[in-house]
Amino acid sequence: MPDPAHNQSPHQPDRQPGQLPDSPETAAQGPTSTVITSANTASDVPQIIYGLSIRGVRAHVLESADRHTDRYLIVLDDPTPIRLKIAQDSLASIWDAILDEYPRAVTLNGHCYFCQYDVTTLARPTTCPECGNNLDSHQARRAMRDGKGRIGRGLGQKPL
Ligand SMILES: [Zn+2]
Repeated sequence: MPDPAHNQSPHQPDRQPGQLPDSPETAAQGPTSTVITSANTASDVPQIIYGLSIRGVRAHVLESADRHTDRYLIVLDDPTPIRLKIAQDSLASIWDAILDEYPRAVTLNGHCYFCQYDVTTLARPTTCPECGNNLDSHQARRAMRDGKGRIGRGLGQKPL
């Protein structure tokens, strides 16, 4: 019976002293990992991963150590160009299913959720002329559902 320990690397690294204790996997991801979307609500995660899996794209979740981003990062297991394309093309419908009660980031009286600008007369999809947010995007709808006053980094919106 060969000793299984013989095949293991003698340099299995323990937790590095400077590594954040609550995000061990974040530091372990390689340069090829591709974050396809992110979420702050834990219950979104299995729905996103399932939505990708039924389209043949496997993904997993990492917790972000960056306070300025969403907490959960959805990462493709094997981001070949075709899988990346499928995942990108699938995201809108996956988020639509999750956010079906929030079709737009517009208040009941027809105002922009973020800045209260009246958008009732504007064509859809609507980019708010006052704050620049796309009120039909899943990012904006998710911010409304989660009660956030602004969308996370990366959308290029103006300060409110
Ligand atoms: Zn606005």
